[in-house]
Amino acid sequence: MSGLVLEGISKSFNGVSAVDHVDLAVPNGTFVCMLGPSGCGKTTLLRTIAGLEEPTSGRILIDGADITAVPAHKRNFGMVFQSLALFPHLNVGENIAYPLRIRSVGRAERVKRAEELLALVDLRGYADRPVARLSGGQRQRVAIARALALSPKLFLLDEPLSALDAKLREAMQVELRKLQQRLGITTIVVTHDQREAMTMADLVVVMGQGRIQQAASPVEIYRKPVNAFVADFIGSTNLIAVQGSGQGVTAPGGTIPGVVLAPGQTSATLSVRPEDIHLVPVGEAPLTGTISFIRDLGASIETFVDAGGTQIVAVASPRDRAEFRVGDTVGLRLAPESCRVLAS
Ligand code: ADP
Ligand code: MG
Repeated sequence: MSGLVLEGISKSFNGVSAVDHVDLAVPNGTFVCMLGPSGCGKTTLLRTIAGLEEPTSGRILIDGADITAVPAHKRNFGMVFQSLALFPHLNVGENIAYPLRIRSVGRAERVKRAEELLALVDLRGYADRPVARLSGGQRQRVAIARALALSPKLFLLDEPLSALDAKLREAMQVELRKLQQRLGITTIVVTHDQREAMTMADLVVVMGQGRIQQAASPVEIYRKPVNAFVADFIGSTNLIAVQGSGQGVTAPGGTIPGVVLAPGQTSATLSVRPEDIHLVPVGEAPLTGTISFIRDLGASIETFVDAGGTQIVAVASPRDRAEFRVGDTVGLRLAPESCRVLAS
């Protein structure tokens, strides 16, 4: 395959596993977001791809060539770390041109390339600024430009936006995605923010405990999570324990018609997104509960419903603001196609 292929990559530190048998194929030009909770092995996997860590086992291939033993500086990958690691004693232009300088590119050529890169990240005219006089977002762009100086084959970023405030972070997510699309460069961004991953990625790789839990498009990850870990990590979901067989299933607050378990399966966990649960007058749905709390967020209303001891969150439209109050008993309508059956 052309692109990046990871084959059975594992990495242990003193016998303790950090990355565990990771297999992944990334076609050229793909924007990948590696997503998962702190400590699940994201940084270790990214550093292994970069050549900064040697895998305990497994192979890394680029366009079919095995690069596992190629040292980091010969891989021609661009990398941006969380700390950015800009050189404080160099100005913006010198920071960006640094990778060219250590490869003995001549001064005139360096200045020209730095100008091109500054234009690329929307910092024209900043070459002579000391980096200390840049805002957080501008530093971010300098780090990105420097990582792209050698037109790398692969662009690797470890939580690059986590130090920025929420508004700027969202703006940079869109910028980074547009830049990647313009350059067509294969990019892997590590993040622990699922919204960030959904915004930027072609391919979301959800990691947990050193393993890939699921690798798929943002929509597929959201609509068809393969297990409770992924369902819970991506967006918010209701995990409802059910019992049943052939004809529908029973939940603590009543029955859910139309959901069928696999042959021989008698219990399962349903994952149902809050926006797929509709509150209806009691009696109009077989599943019932009592509203325990209402969170009115203006654009949407989250209602917390106690259904036989299980808390279920449903999103109601602001149009229904006057319809339901805390303490009301309500029906919960769930379309069977929006219930994802997970192994329990
Ligand atoms: P993440 O980036 O997802 O937060 P890391 O890849 O940093 O996770 O860490 C995964 C696991 O590997 C953690 O348990 C961490 O303590 C361990 N680890 C990472 N780097 C080292 C190291 N150099 N030496 C020992 N343990 C490490
Ligand atoms: Mg990390």
